[in-house]
Amino acid sequence: VKLANKYLMPLITRGTGTGKAGGAIPDKNGVVVSLERMNRILNIDPINRTITVEPGVILSDLQEAIGKEGLWYPVDPASADWCTIGGNVACNAGGPRALKYGVTGDYVLGLKGVYGDGTFFQLGGKLLKDVAGYDLKRLLIGSEGTLGIITSITLKLLPPPPPEQVIWCGFDCISDGIDFLIAVLSQNIQPTAAEFMPGVCLKAVESYQKTVFPFSHHAAHLLLVLDARYQLDYSILPSCHRVQFDNPEALWAIRRDISESLTHVSISKCSEDITVPVSQLPALMRGLQRLTDQSDYVCLGYGHLGDGNVHVNVLNTDQPIEKWQIDQPYLVERIIKLGISLGGTLSGEHGIGLTKKPYMPLYFSERDITIMKGIKAQFDPNHILNPSKVFD
Ligand SMILES: Cc1cc2nc3c(=O)[nH]c(=O)nc-3n(C[C@H](O)[C@H](O)[C@H](O)COP(=O)(O)OP(=O)(O)OC[C@H]3O[C@@H](n4cnc5c(N)ncnc54)[C@H](O)[C@@H]3O)c2cc1C
Repeated sequence: VKLANKYLMPLITRGTGTGKAGGAIPDKNGVVVSLERMNRILNIDPINRTITVEPGVILSDLQEAIGKEGLWYPVDPASADWCTIGGNVACNAGGPRALKYGVTGDYVLGLKGVYGDGTFFQLGGKLLKDVAGYDLKRLLIGSEGTLGIITSITLKLLPPPPPEQVIWCGFDCISDGIDFLIAVLSQNIQPTAAEFMPGVCLKAVESYQKTVFPFSHHAAHLLLVLDARYQLDYSILPSCHRVQFDNPEALWAIRRDISESLTHVSISKCSEDITVPVSQLPALMRGLQRLTDQSDYVCLGYGHLGDGNVHVNVLNTDQPIEKWQIDQPYLVERIIKLGISLGGTLSGEHGIGLTKKPYMPLYFSERDITIMKGIKAQFDPNHILNPSKVFD
């Protein structure tokens, strides 16, 4: 990092490159700092209930290691088998269980690493409470490689979760599914996960997995995870078709394969992860349908709808690529403006990176962005770290 400062050479920190906002893409000259091989688990501490790791540990390896100690880390993005924990901290990754258990940042107790000028930092530790000074650790969480290179992470762990039930429901139309979800969330229970999928997602997974699901004819689907002790009141919406299925893991495999499957059924696609208040989901879904009707593309929303985090995908199934390239930014801007108009934000978990950078002024005031630039200048005075990401 000191050399990079001397030669004013950009450094692009990289975990395993699964980030969905292009944050690890070296779009300018510079050096990619791959942390893939910094993958040691340094310490599992059952008394303090913490794990300390290097950033290149793959999340599922971390989950397996702590499982052997009878402990649990709840954050479980669909990319758990491929992404690094460093990338998770840098993007503040979420996932299905965020609805009940929160996101990566809620579990980070300590960070070590290097600021942009090459000086080392050590923030927090195995402390469950720490309010000393400004929370620099929090600024690094979600900073997408622009403020520091994280080289060691201490996470808070939990005891294993209570027994859970996995429920799959089919619906005759998208609005029935959304109404049911909102009714469930309005009951006095806390779902662990509530993943919503329009029928087109299931059809894509069928084609990708080369299989047929007996329930794929429904127009919308909801994968619900609840503590086993909860009894759901299905009378709240009679149009919910409960699907009986013996293997919950296969249901999760459907959910996890959606992103990849949609790539296979379209010539090109783009994926946004706006978040809106749950009460605005019906309006958002109506808006996406309007966009589909008014354009030559399919605009659909799926994902962690229980916490309002919608993976909006625009699919190009039959238009020439040249036309797509012109239309796509316009459609994305309309989707983002729609989300913001409903009280939403640009990104719930994927971050800003390269792809959402143009939309920052739609969400933040000029003054907000000036303050962010000032913070960046303090952490990274020569603008070495991931210089073209988040904002110019
Ligand atoms: C199929 C699929 C499903 C996904 N599902 C989810 C999901 O459910 N929830 C979710 O939140 N995300 C999801 N993602 C997105 C992605 O997996 C996460 O953002 C993940 O945290 C990125 O980790 P990575 O190791 O691949 O990071 P990379 O892509 O390599 O990097 C991402 C950003 O973090 C920075 N960075 C990486 N490591 C460090 C470090 N040690 N120090 C400083 N900066 C660093 C990079 O510079 C870059 O800006 C999914 C991705 C895919 C492909």
